[in-house]
Amino acid sequence: MMTSRRDFFKGAAGAVLLLNGKKTLSADPVAVAAPIIVCSRGTEWGEKVLGPAWNTWEKTGSMMDAVERGANIAELDPEDSSVGYGGLPNEEGVVSLDSCVMHGPTHNCGAVAALEKIKRACSVARLVMERTDHMLLVGDGARRFAVAHGFVEENLLTDKARLNWLKWKENLSENDDWLPPKDDDYSHEAYQRPTGTINVLGIDAGGDVFGITTTSGLAFKIPGRVGDSPIIGAGLYLDNRVGAAGATGRGEEVIRTCGSFLTVELMRQGMHPQKACEEALKRIIAINKGSVDFNVKYIAVDKKGRVGCAQLKPYGETHCSFISDTGFRAIKAQVVS
Ligand code: ASP
Repeated sequence: MMTSRRDFFKGAAGAVLLLNGKKTLSADPVAVAAPIIVCSRGTEWGEKVLGPAWNTWEKTGSMMDAVERGANIAELDPEDSSVGYGGLPNEEGVVSLDSCVMHGPTHNCGAVAALEKIKRACSVARLVMERTDHMLLVGDGARRFAVAHGFVEENLLTDKARLNWLKWKENLSENDDWLPPKDDDYSHEAYQRPTGTINVLGIDAGGDVFGITTTSGLAFKIPGRVGDSPIIGAGLYLDNRVGAAGATGRGEEVIRTCGSFLTVELMRQGMHPQKACEEALKRIIAINKGSVDFNVKYIAVDKKGRVGCAQLKPYGETHCSFISDTGFRAIKAQVVS
């Protein structure tokens, strides 16, 4: 079969490598206890995200479709203030999405950053992976690419998110002209900018690994700010021989420690996914000289189907969940600091 231009540039499926003069398959077969799908959120979202993802896996046999379906659930949910439609906007009130996708068998990737007006950012990221010779499209280029593929432009700012943003804006400073309503009981100290993202990782029956990270990013960010979520190796990484990892929380810290890449590399060295998540967090603590006032959470799954989940601070969600042939299970994050 002829190698297409696409395969040449972006794919390595089935490639035979020459290693020390010996032929070896590019993807070593490793014993697996798959299939399994893992979500960075606890039981409630486990039911919401993992149920449809698992159904898609059973119906189509495609784990890539399954993790995309799971991530789409969060992206399309207006009640989720940290992902897709309903996500909290940037400081100008514009919802701006980041996402990336990885496909283990080919080690192929796709990502979008600062994408506006399109609800399913991870599906656009998948198209970047499958239908372009690039890996990351940003801003208006990403939006126009999505439109070219038939995505509909929509207002992603729900009333709930707009009011939340307005409250933040009106209480930001005493030195501007935006005033809160008289009966506002807002207290600056009490206010924490909500965070959130979703990672969905899957391993199929053949042991191939897939993953997605999708988010609206840091609430009220400076326009143009891009977090870890669309950065391969930061918000998501996987290796078809090892497993997958994903990050949520303060993206700047995840980027500067290559967090998901580090977690996968630690698993490659033989670490259990739980230990690997904790070690990756300890790297952040070390870089910050022991002083952390933010949250980062890692989840990881290895080819044996073992799951790990750890976070720096007990903010918000303290669980991750997964589904396999044995049903739903949730594990509590190990809190590191
Ligand atoms: N990691 C995301 C970002 O930094 C935000 C989050 O997960 O809270 O954009």
